[in-house]
Amino acid sequence: MSNLHEPLLRWYDEHARDLPWRRPEAGAWSVMVSEFMLQQTPVARVLPVHEQWLARWPAPADLAAEPSGEAVRAWGRLGYPRRALRLHAAATAIVERHGGTVPASYDDLVALPGIGDYTAAAIATFAYGRRHVVLDTNVRRVFARILQGVELPGTSVTRAEREVALEVLPDDEPTASTWSVAVMELGALVCTAANPRCGGCPVADLCAWRAAGHPAYDGPPRKAQTWAGTDRQCRGRLLSVLRDSDAPVHRSRLDATWTEEAQRVRCLASLVEDGLVVHAGPDTYALP
Ligand code: SF4
Repeated sequence: MSNLHEPLLRWYDEHARDLPWRRPEAGAWSVMVSEFMLQQTPVARVLPVHEQWLARWPAPADLAAEPSGEAVRAWGRLGYPRRALRLHAAATAIVERHGGTVPASYDDLVALPGIGDYTAAAIATFAYGRRHVVLDTNVRRVFARILQGVELPGTSVTRAEREVALEVLPDDEPTASTWSVAVMELGALVCTAANPRCGGCPVADLCAWRAAGHPAYDGPPRKAQTWAGTDRQCRGRLLSVLRDSDAPVHRSRLDATWTEEAQRVRCLASLVEDGLVVHAGPDTYALP
């Protein structure tokens, strides 16, 4: 399968987007922040927040020195704000365990709070040029199509999938690092979920799914991403009131954001439980 390497690496060399966390001067902290933000948010929305974040907190110690609520506030509307708390916790641990420097080894990274297999592998690979299997949604979809001949991968990463990804990972570290980001970029720009542009794909001749005539996905039903009326939307509304206020907020202001009372009460309780919101006094709330 190494015949995939040359065309894909050449394509990446010509088509890769110029993103701040990929620039030579970007440090490991910039890469780490980007990985947290990009987990569930598109690049275009991450770019301005990432820039502001790095300007305000150029190193893990700068973030760790502030209350976690400031991280939640600066997270803005990126969504899934528990990531802000996790990033703050990881920065604090980096200061305590590693003298404020983002560690380079997978084992040290995965031992940090809030960092799982994917994020540890991605930081070690993209910040330090290490050789790891990096399996995000885009990469899994590209491999499912090229190597397995199916439109979409299963709902969770399997051991077999990991082994196949390891088989096609180039042997030397720098090439493996570039390969990982190249596959990810192909998934983001060409082999997209809904509209793969096989005509402009550098590995079209090697793609099993294309060769099989693009058979439709026939696995278990996939959850559609919904937003309107969900707890996620309600939590986002509640949190935005607190983010936009420098002082604790009375419950009546939160009540005004969402008419469905039972859902609102449940969502506010879940925000408190997650540590994203704290009681600041009787019937008043604030960021932590
Ligand atoms: S040929 Fe089409 S389906 Fe296969 S990897 Fe390229 S874009 Fe994706």
